[in-house]
Amino acid sequence: MDVQAIRAQFPILSTEMNGRPLVYLDSAASTQKPAAVIEAHGRFYGHDYANIHRGIYELSQRATTMHDEARRKVQRFIGAGSWREIVFTRNATEAINLVARSFLAPRLEEGDEILVTEMEHHANIVPWQMIAAETGAKVVAAPVDDDGVLDMKTFASLVGRRTRMISVAWVSNVLGTVNPVDEIIAIGRRNGIPVMLDAAQAVQHRHVDVASLGADFIAFSAHKMYAPSGLGVLWGRCEHLEAMPPWQGGGDMIERVSFDGTTWNEIPFKFEAGTPDIAGTVAFGAALDWMEDIGIEAIERHESELLGHAMRAMRQVPGLRLLGTARDKCSVLAFTLEGAHQQDIGTMLDLDGIAIRTGHHCAMPLHDRFGLTGSARASLGVYNNEEDIDALVAGLRRIAGMFQ
Ligand code: PLP
Repeated sequence: MDVQAIRAQFPILSTEMNGRPLVYLDSAASTQKPAAVIEAHGRFYGHDYANIHRGIYELSQRATTMHDEARRKVQRFIGAGSWREIVFTRNATEAINLVARSFLAPRLEEGDEILVTEMEHHANIVPWQMIAAETGAKVVAAPVDDDGVLDMKTFASLVGRRTRMISVAWVSNVLGTVNPVDEIIAIGRRNGIPVMLDAAQAVQHRHVDVASLGADFIAFSAHKMYAPSGLGVLWGRCEHLEAMPPWQGGGDMIERVSFDGTTWNEIPFKFEAGTPDIAGTVAFGAALDWMEDIGIEAIERHESELLGHAMRAMRQVPGLRLLGTARDKCSVLAFTLEGAHQQDIGTMLDLDGIAIRTGHHCAMPLHDRFGLTGSARASLGVYNNEEDIDALVAGLRRIAGMFQ
């Protein structure tokens, strides 16, 4: 893979921050966008834009076709059996809320349990807590060990008669741990419990084939996949989506409206009330084409080599402690540095043009588990190279020298 050629496609990577070349190491929060995606977005607004599904005129029909085609690209990208299984949402967060509200809430009773893990992003905790509070159910979290690996023995033991749902991050946004989702899905299947995967940190790094995966739902966000923000995906099994009630009402999600009663559109439109981010969807299609041109296996290989290089180099920085050292780990490097507050680390690196994230990364319970209020986090995208890592490590060495 020619990383230099890939970097050249990202206009932002040739800009400067604080007078230094930008080193962007925050792709787990959101990826930068290649020219192909930026151009697809602009071209759509300049040449093809109209509202969809409503117009009889040529332009509206063209926009509708492009929007539909983007949905089919998502279908192909994740190996879904039908485009009807692809629901467009605002982001992964909304996709999880949709499942919580529409699928699980009507089935929950007092004393029921929803099983998650200690390493979840708040997006995969709070929606379940909200419906649990309304029904008297509770959210149970399986523990992670000191390496940031899910304790599967305890996980299995927490699956019980009252477990109504399992919802787990495929990849942790702090630890980078890749969870054993096949094993988790098998546990769900054996016990007749639906399994949702929060794939927000997985689909951009690993090959995903939902048809063979066996999960019930997966959720992810376009903005972490080199596409615009404001767009996400819920993939769900047709039989679930068919049976679920809509969760928001309005235009497009109806079949017929009258004051005597309203009937619902077919899936996935039943869950897509109102005008969607049409240009964002079209640009998402362009991002998926772009990723497929590179090849997800090539992306995975490159990022995993870079992760190895980064872990080796960061371990040599005095006082640096990596959070998450699972054998199966991907693209995320959270850490603490003895004597230095994470915010100081972030601010000082920023002066060198190096963008990393600091704080709790929307995973407060995980930081509690490690006795921390937060951490610093560097994360990788396909455009990162060894020079980015070397710049980060040089910066960290300087900071370590100042604080220790
Ligand atoms: N789940 C995980 C694992 C994430 O890392 C994130 C975002 O960082 C989310 C869910 C939420 O994504 P969004 O804010 O795009 O809905």
